[in-house]
Amino acid sequence: MPLPPLETLFRREVLAMSAYHVADASNYIKLDAMENPYSWPDDIQQAWLQHLKTCPLNRYPDPEAKVLADALRRSNAIPETSAILLGNGSDEIIQILLMALPNTAAVLAPEPGFVMYKQIALSLGLRYRGVPLAAESFDLDLPAMLAAIEAEKPAVIFLAYPNNPTGNLFDPAAIEAILAAAPGLVVVDEAYAPFADASFIERLAQYDNLLVMRTVSKLGLAGLRLGFMAGPPALLEQLNKVRLPYNINCLTQATAGFALEHPQFLLEQTRLIREQRGVVMQALQAIDAVKAYPSAANFILFRTLTKPAGAVFAGLKQQGVLIKNLSAQGGLLENCLRATIGKPEENQAFLQALKAALA
Ligand SMILES: *Cc1c(COP(=O)(O)O)cnc(C)c1O
Repeated sequence: MPLPPLETLFRREVLAMSAYHVADASNYIKLDAMENPYSWPDDIQQAWLQHLKTCPLNRYPDPEAKVLADALRRSNAIPETSAILLGNGSDEIIQILLMALPNTAAVLAPEPGFVMYKQIALSLGLRYRGVPLAAESFDLDLPAMLAAIEAEKPAVIFLAYPNNPTGNLFDPAAIEAILAAAPGLVVVDEAYAPFADASFIERLAQYDNLLVMRTVSKLGLAGLRLGFMAGPPALLEQLNKVRLPYNINCLTQATAGFALEHPQFLLEQTRLIREQRGVVMQALQAIDAVKAYPSAANFILFRTLTKPAGAVFAGLKQQGVLIKNLSAQGGLLENCLRATIGKPEENQAFLQALKAALA
C-alpha cells in the first residue's frame, strides 16, 4: 500500500505547525536558553554519584514520586491545602492540563509569551487566542485581556510570572483581576521564580481556579526535566489520571531529591546570576544603540535601535556568542534579542561582542 496523503493521516493544525527548533550550540558561548552556567562543586558531585547508586534501575520508579513531591512541597512552601502534580519538565504539565480539556476548549495567553502554550494547544486541536501585551512596558493590557476572556470563555489562561521572553513581572493586581474574571483555570507559570522576589504561591489558598507551576530547569537542573504544578486537590486529581504513570524517572527522582537536600550551592549560583544580571543590565543601559528592558529573570530582553537585530545576532554568532533572536516573531518583538545571564567572563565576552556587532 502506498503511504496515504499526510492530510488524511494527521490533524490540519499539526501539519501547519513547525517543530520546536533548538539551535546547535556546540563551540559557542551559550547564552540562548536560560540555563544556569555553573556545574556542581566536586564534593557535591561525588556525593551525588554515591547517591545515584541507590537507584534500582531494574524496577519501575515510584509512580507518585512521593519522596520528591514532599521535598518540593517543603522547599517551595506549598500550602498543605494544595495538591501537587509532577511532570517531565513543566512542558509536560502544560500538555497534561490541556489534554484533559474538552476539544472545544479555548486557551488564552498574553503575547509575546512562552511559545509552548500555543504550540501544545494547537497540537491538541484546541483553540488558542493570544492577547498582545502593552507596547514597551510589556505589562498586561488588562482591558484587552478582560475583553478576550469575555469573548473566548477560555478553559485555561497562562500567565508567566516573570514573563518569557520579556523578563518582567506583570502587575499582580491585574493578575488578580484576571483570576476573578476567568470562567476557567488560571495557570501562573513561575519558571523564573529563583530570580524573582514575587510569587502567587501564597495566594493558592485564596483562589479556587489558581494553579501555580514551577520547574527546576532555570534553577540549574534543565537536564533533569522536572516541573510541578500546585493547586486545588479536586483539579489535580483529574489531571493525575491523564499523566502517564512513570513520568518522573528514577534518576530524576534521586537527583532532584539530592539537590533539594543540598540547597546551598544552587542558592549561591542563583545569587551570582542575579548579581550578574545587574552588571549586564548596567552595561546594556550604557550602550545608546540598544534599549534593555527590566528583568526579574535570568535573561535580559533588549531591542537594537540602530541596526536590524538579525544583523547584530549574526555578528554575535560570528564572534562565538549565541543568544536568541526573537525579531522574526515580529510585532512587539521586532528587533528584539534575548541574552541569558551566564558566568561573569561569558557576560563580558557577550558585551564586548555586542559592541563590536553594533559598531
Ligand atoms: C523554560 C520555561 C518553561 C519550561 O520549563 P521546563 O520545566 O524546562 O519544561 C515553562 N515556562 C516558561 C515561562 C519557561 O520560560
